[in-house]
This record gives sequence, structure tokens and C-alpha cells, in this order.
Amino acid sequence: MTSQPAKKLLILPGDGIGPEVMQEVRHIIAWLEAKRGLSFAITEDLVGGASLAQYGEPIRDDVIEQARAADAVLFGSVGDPRWNHVGFEKRPELAILKLRQELALFANLRPAKVFDALVDASTLKPDVVRGLDIMIVRETVGGIYFGNPRGIETLADGSKRGINTEVYTTSEIERVARVAFDLARKRSNRVCSVEKCNVMESGLLWKEVVTDLHAREYADVELTHMLADNCAMQLVRNPRQFDVLVTGNLFGDLLSDLASMLTGSLGMLPSATLGAADSAGKCPALYEPIHGSAPDIAGQGIANPIAQILSFAMLLRYSFDYQAEAQLIEEAVAAVLANGLRTADIMSEGKTRVSTSEMGAAIVNEL
Ligand code: ATP
Ligand code: MG
Repeated sequence: MTSQPAKKLLILPGDGIGPEVMQEVRHIIAWLEAKRGLSFAITEDLVGGASLAQYGEPIRDDVIEQARAADAVLFGSVGDPRWNHVGFEKRPELAILKLRQELALFANLRPAKVFDALVDASTLKPDVVRGLDIMIVRETVGGIYFGNPRGIETLADGSKRGINTEVYTTSEIERVARVAFDLARKRSNRVCSVEKCNVMESGLLWKEVVTDLHAREYADVELTHMLADNCAMQLVRNPRQFDVLVTGNLFGDLLSDLASMLTGSLGMLPSATLGAADSAGKCPALYEPIHGSAPDIAGQGIANPIAQILSFAMLLRYSFDYQAEAQLIEEAVAAVLANGLRTADIMSEGKTRVSTSEMGAAIVNEL
């Protein structure tokens, strides 16, 4: 039993299946409090379509302040087709965009991990992905999605040109590389840095800054460099060669979607987005499943809660340093899958189909 002060956790379930899968996390929290002596100071609020319906805006300033004050945020998902007709400023999705922006969450962590029991769900051959466990660290607030100049210009002859610019500064590269090196030390101690230094100046600087930082502070970590196009090929050819991958916004966007399909199941994948530590050492962090609000299956009790549960396990590991508890949860998920329980999205022949709440209960039972 520990007697640490309660960790401040903000829970934002959101729309669609968000509240349904979050309910299963609450059961796990109750178990951690009862059986492991952990204590959480939890606040909850509405975001997305749920907040639009109640307050007329996708996220209130007050919720953003709560997120700032919390030790970590557990997010469900936002998106509700009932708001499709409204203008961009009233889209449910703005809730997550605003949170990322306001908390300056610059590093997106996406693990691609294959559970033994689901090895057949991958788009690749079982022998290629068995035991796969990689982590992609994507820079999220810089790069070509935000660089200037940008826009669409009309030329003298009436034709047009569209412009985007990839800009990366030394400090932007360093802070995301630091996240990757720190993560690698807790994993298999290997980082592969990905850019296109053969054709892009921003890539050249990326490689230089990562190499310098490595020599100065992380010489104990194995560092390799790879061109982004080769990396896409290697992720499909032999993904297990990687441990931690670190890359910019654009390449990270593409490579993390590619890597997620190596595991074959959207309903299984968690993610984390981290910001910079303040002067007191507090680091804002938001955890959410990769999947969206899945309006097509909302309200039916059939959503897979595992991505949300594993997002909570990541939160325990990275924000609260509850390593043992995070591992217990991950092992319980693996065991339940090994026992043949499956929600509809990962169902296959000969397995036992269960509902959202049955899957959650089985995981708590396994704990
Ligand atoms: P968004 O724009 O919010 O990402 P989307 O439509 O792109 O929404 P999802 O909401 O993730 O993507 O849904 C994609 C498909 O995957 C849908 O058919 C949905 O039902 C299914 N899906 C997503 N998450 C889950 C889950 N946890 N369990 C079962 N099925 C899921
Ligand atoms: Mg989507």
C-alpha cells in the first residue's frame, strides 16, 4: 500500500462509444484503489458533441484550465454526426484540437504492439509480427502542417499554386528526440530517427540535431537513422527490427497509421500526447485511443474497450510512474485475449464473443 498524495486525473469521455469504453476504465480504477491502495482525485467533464448540446461549445475554457491543473487527462473520443451541419467553429472535433494546442502537446506516442492471441489479425504473416512491440514518436505541433509561407496563390496567368513549407528549429527537434531517447531507455534502448535528409534541408537539420543530442546526453542508447521511404518499406518487410521510431509531423502521420495496421485492430490501440515540463517539472499529458467515436456502433454495448483501457495503462506508466500497475493491466488484457474472449471487431472463428461490459469485467476479474 502506498500513501502518496492522490494523482489528479481529468476524465473526458466525449461522444459515441467514448462514454461506453470509459465506463470499463472506471471499474479498473475502482480495482486499483481497492486492491493496490492507489488513490486518484478524479474530475470529469463534457467535451465534443456532449458539450455542444449542454453549453453550446465543443469545449469550455474551464475544462482547458482543469486539464492544465490535472496530472494527466484521459480522453475518450469526440465526433457526432448530429453536428455535421454546423460551421467549423462548432464541430465536436475542435475539443481535442484545442486541448492539444492549449497544452502545447508536441509529442504523440503510438505503440504498435501485437498480442500473441491476435497475431492472425495482422495484415502481415504471423511470423513477421509475432511479438511486435514498437513505439512511434511523432512531432505534432511543427513541420509542414504549420510552416510558413503557406497558402494558395493566383499567378499572373490566372493559374494557381499551393504552398506548404516544412520548418523545424533546433529546439523543436531536440525536445521530441529527448522524449524518444527517454522512452528507449525504459524499453529496448534503441532509437531510429526518420527523415529525408537526402532531399530536404529540414531533414538534414533533423539528423544533425538528433546526432548531436545523442552524443551529448544519450550515448548509452543505440541510435540509427533511416530515410522515411525506406522506413515505410522496412515497417512492412521486417517491423521487429525497430524499438522506438522518432520522426516529424508528416512522416509520423503516415508511418503511425501504417504501423497501426500491422496489429490489425483499431479497437486495440492506445496513444499518448505529451507536452513540455514546466519549471516545477510538471508535464502535461493526454491519453486517448486511436479510434474515433464510432457513431455507427454507439449505444449497442459492442465497442471494444481495450484501446481505452490500454490508454489508461500508458497514463499510469508515463504520467504517474505506476509501472507495476500498468504492466498488470497489460498482462490482464493479454490473458483475457488468450482465453478466447473477443468483442465483435476482433472476433474470429472458435472464439467467444463478448460485449463491452463483459470484456471490461473479464479484465478486472483477471487482475
Ligand atoms: P474519427 O473521425 O472520430 O476518427 P472515424 O469514422 O474515422 O472517426 P472511428 O470512429 O474510429 O473512425 O471508426 C472507424 C470504424 O472502426 C467504424 O466502423 C467503427 O465502428 C470501428 N471502431 C472504432 N473503434 C472501435 C472500437 N473501440 N470497437 C469496435 N469498433 C470500433
Ligand atoms: Mg478517423
